[in-house]
Amino acid sequence: MSGNEIKSSNEIKVHSEIEYTRADGQSVHSDLCPRNCNHDGLLHEEYKAHIHAALDEWLSKSNGSGYFYIASHHYHISHSQK
Ligand SMILES: [Zn+2]
Repeated sequence: MSGNEIKSSNEIKVHSEIEYTRADGQSVHSDLCPRNCNHDGLLHEEYKAHIHAALDEWLSKSNGSGYFYIASHHYHISHSQK
C-alpha cells in the first residue's frame, strides 16, 4: 500500500457514532454522521458544535465504556467486542 492513493473528495464518506453505558446501566447509542455521511458536512459550524457536544457527553458520562468515533468510511470499526 502506497498511502498516496487519494480518492476524489466527493467519494469520501464520513461516519461518526457515540455509544456508552450510563451509570444507571442504560445503553446510549447515536449515529452522528454529517448529512448523507458527506464530508462536506464537517465544515458546517452546526455540525462541529454537534460533534463537540457529543464528545463532551462521552467524556462526562461514559466512564470509559463504549466509544466515540469519527472516521472515514474506509476505516472499519468493529462493534462486536465489548
Ligand atoms: Zn455515516
